[in-house]
Amino acid sequence: MDKICIKGLEVFGKHGVLPEENALGQKFVISATLFCDTRRAGRSDRLEDSVNYAQVSELLKAETESHVFRLLEALAWHLAKEVLLHFQLVQGVTLQIEKPWAPVHLPLDTVSVQIHREWHQAFLGVGSNLGDREGQIRAAIDFLGEDDLTRVVKVSSLIETKPVGDVEQGDFLNGAIEIATLRSPEELLELTQGIEGKLKRERKIHWGPRTIDLDILLYGREVVRSESLCIPHIEMERRMFVLEPLCEIAPYAVHPLSGKRVRELRQALLDGQGNV
Ligand code: ADP
Ligand code: MG
Repeated sequence: MDKICIKGLEVFGKHGVLPEENALGQKFVISATLFCDTRRAGRSDRLEDSVNYAQVSELLKAETESHVFRLLEALAWHLAKEVLLHFQLVQGVTLQIEKPWAPVHLPLDTVSVQIHREWHQAFLGVGSNLGDREGQIRAAIDFLGEDDLTRVVKVSSLIETKPVGDVEQGDFLNGAIEIATLRSPEELLELTQGIEGKLKRERKIHWGPRTIDLDILLYGREVVRSESLCIPHIEMERRMFVLEPLCEIAPYAVHPLSGKRVRELRQALLDGQGNV
């Protein structure tokens, strides 16, 4: 992807863990690489079609001056987030902050922290079979949109489905949601579980009735396998109530392990069911 680079922006700030640093302040040197598609601006030669690096520099300066963080890590994340939230064209940012006068008392040139953050496309599955099913699903979507690190991009139709498993329970309403998020997979799980909590989800019976179930189906093409998180969702290719709504909004999204597209997974499941 194309890059627009700002190198060596000098700003005076009061960040640091020592009280002297917070009182006296010191020089910070910021460099930012903005990942964005510059084709449109290349063709039109219009600034409105690109990322205005003067405005980005102003933002970096203003935010560095108006906050006090203890750690460069916190300042870097704050600045990366501000750039990604304010400039629509910026897909990702690599941000480096140097502290040339860091109070280390040893002969060194500079210390620095560098981070990379970017928007990630992810797909969530949502379901409810208790209480006001549609109201709860809509509320969950609203909560997702209210998160400052997440944007709701697309929502599928909600479909009525029969419960899976042996538990006697009411029918589900299921849907799929596309989001863009700055959260990591684990941070996204925190958000979805927080929303489940707000909507009074109680984990009583495994696979039992629930006011809301919010699952992470896909997170870009990443594969996550930890104790608390499996992405792609481990059951997605076996569940029509997941594939049907997901296929409506993302037929060409790829399952990173099988390499198959969602519409192929759906077709394979349909064919399999047909053979039973
Ligand atoms: P299910 O969604 O399979 O019906 P739960 O919603 O009760 O079941 O999820 C149980 C656990 O699944 C959660 O505590 C969570 O840590 C784990 N989990 C693993 N991978 C995912 C994922 N991709 N999305 C959501 N939860 C997940
Ligand atoms: Mg779940």
